[in-house]
Amino acid sequence: MWLMVIIYMGTVSCSHPAKSTEEPDISPTLQVMETVSQSYDWVPPADGFDFPLGPPDGKGYYNAQPFGRNFHLGDDLNGIGGGNTDLGDTIYSIATGRVFFAEDIGGGWGNVVRVAHNIGDSLTPQWVEALYAHMDTVVIANGALLHRGQALGTIGTAGGTYLAHLHLEIRTQMGMPIGGGYSDQTEGFVSPSEFIRERRE
Ligand SMILES: [Zn+2]
Repeated sequence: MWLMVIIYMGTVSCSHPAKSTEEPDISPTLQVMETVSQSYDWVPPADGFDFPLGPPDGKGYYNAQPFGRNFHLGDDLNGIGGGNTDLGDTIYSIATGRVFFAEDIGGGWGNVVRVAHNIGDSLTPQWVEALYAHMDTVVIANGALLHRGQALGTIGTAGGTYLAHLHLEIRTQMGMPIGGGYSDQTEGFVSPSEFIRERRE
């Protein structure tokens, strides 16, 4: 019960994230909630998920490197035209959520946007994270409350590192280190396409 109270206080009162002095065993998710709470007022429950390219169902795009192939931790979504034909295409938020990270971190990542989604309900949130990478442009700011289908920016190449595509991850443990995009350790990651397909409404 106290967990719900902490979440509620931490998210509603931005300037004073609630802290517990009695309970040291705070979960990673709650630590993230406190860390990002300044930009993180409240996240309405997601009312379904759509694909981020060609929403709602991904028409016009294909998955060039699905989750799990080559230890890939996400999906690589590409335009069916191939090459850089999809460079600059609009990327849309897969669901209602709150942006908690929007930065160009360079390297193999480029522009990265991380969004918290609540797949529980208002009083008992359950968090998943969507991570969008290699973006050419980003049109939303950290802290923004998104609705499903809202434009986030455009497909990019991570500064010329790749042919244009969207690297999309869905993380069931929110706020983990960014990592390397590939690993045989998949705890906290799920197949984005399967996750979205199961929640299309
Ligand atoms: Zn990828």
